[in-house]
Amino acid sequence: MPDTPAPALTIRMHADDNVAIVANDGGLPAGTALPGGLVLRDKVPQGHKVALTDLPRGAAVLRYGVAIGHALEDIPAGAWVHERLLGMPPARGLDDLPMATRGTMALPPLEGYTFEGYRNPDGSVGTRNILAITQSVQCVAGVTAFAVQRIKAELLPKYPNVDDVVALEHGYGCGVAIDAPDAAIPIRTLRHISLNPNFGGEVMVVSLGCEKLQPERLLPPGSIPIASGRGAAAADALDVVCLQDEAHVGFMSMVDSILRQAAVHLRRLDARRRETVPASELVVGVQCGGSDAFSGVTANPAVGFCTDLLVRAGASVMFSETTEVRDGIAQLTARAATPEVAEALVREMAWYDGYLRRGGVDRSANTTPGNKKGGLSNIVEKAMGSIVKSGSAPIAQVLAPGEKLRGRGLTYAATPASDFICGTLQTAAGMNLHVFTTGRGTPYGLAVVPVIKVATRSDLARRWHDLMDLNAGTIAEGRASIEDVGWQLFHLMLEVASGRQRTWAERWKLHNQLVLFNPAPVT
Ligand code: CA
Repeated sequence: MPDTPAPALTIRMHADDNVAIVANDGGLPAGTALPGGLVLRDKVPQGHKVALTDLPRGAAVLRYGVAIGHALEDIPAGAWVHERLLGMPPARGLDDLPMATRGTMALPPLEGYTFEGYRNPDGSVGTRNILAITQSVQCVAGVTAFAVQRIKAELLPKYPNVDDVVALEHGYGCGVAIDAPDAAIPIRTLRHISLNPNFGGEVMVVSLGCEKLQPERLLPPGSIPIASGRGAAAADALDVVCLQDEAHVGFMSMVDSILRQAAVHLRRLDARRRETVPASELVVGVQCGGSDAFSGVTANPAVGFCTDLLVRAGASVMFSETTEVRDGIAQLTARAATPEVAEALVREMAWYDGYLRRGGVDRSANTTPGNKKGGLSNIVEKAMGSIVKSGSAPIAQVLAPGEKLRGRGLTYAATPASDFICGTLQTAAGMNLHVFTTGRGTPYGLAVVPVIKVATRSDLARRWHDLMDLNAGTIAEGRASIEDVGWQLFHLMLEVASGRQRTWAERWKLHNQLVLFNPAPVT
């Protein structure tokens, strides 16, 4: 007997929408009757849009209740609304935006949730206990990597409470226009990464010696909070191993210096213990990558629900990815807690518009071939699905790229949408837990912050069962609600933050490079 085909399933996001997406695995063939009686005129792939009414040429195509484009030719009801049939609207101007009009009605508090974390001298809390070795320049990367291998083999077994040793490798430090105004971005990013809560306030630097980014410029006096009991002298002494130091004779003497200094920090890190802290100590960065049309239907709304839970619990949540919120700027400025926050949002959008313009592109350069294959026709549609990760709380704060978080609640941390650059900048902002949604699938991970990956579709979750930490595809299948998956994610976060559960990326030790955002010239 032939298998009974699964019932046709389409998802419409808003009552005003004149398109819906096909939810069935493998899409639906032409001739399929949809539940409302509409018959498909074309084969429509999974995640792609079907016209629910006749769309005459020039008509607005509505998804999420907003115009994601206009029909470039007549599109009959039941037809596949292919990306080539959609014209993209221009970006919303940055004048006359609704500024902080939504009011700041706080969400009801959520109390009683805790996790086990590492309390730091500056009051922040780590979710992992890692020795990070900062580098002032790429030149030292090979030597540091060699030393880290030896530290892992020879020292780490003696310090069982330390999770890992990580070299903070990057491409910056020399051969750059270090006094260019935008050079402030990569420099402060590196500085703030060194101070991430997962490193316990222990900072050591490997420097070459002749590089433009001298250690004192990277970490000026007073930039490192000092643990109690370590004396005032320690406050001024930045721990630097300089490879060009005359004391070094031969490669092994450099490696030995790094090992000797690492042992000092490992001893202190090893003495630390997890303690019960309120969920308000979570600093969560959310982003998406390898998105599809389900991102904005399943995973991102679930993350948005969880974002609200975190804000209600007093935690800090960052959302980012400027090109993926640019088309929703009016929603964001309206949600700003104060006119100053709204102004800061406009400032970051305007800066990024200019940055893209200098490169001869605009926000539409964001979408990838995979996004389009997954049903996302253009950046407007992608943005509407991306922005829902931010939930519904007032936006309390805006960070420019590379800045460090200054308060709790919901923050817009301006970053490129590039997964690695966004993750790097959120790490610099002080993130201690990362949530990443994906529809097409990516094995993304970070070496220094646990990354919880959420699949938008059950098919992906099934095939990538040992890479995806949570499946939000159950929402599209009607097996779970957005709230159910949001709560699941919230509880999973507390487990991962406490170290009781490791993410798949941690178990396989998969991680991407730190990639600095450097809009300044290189020389
Ligand atoms: Ca991204």
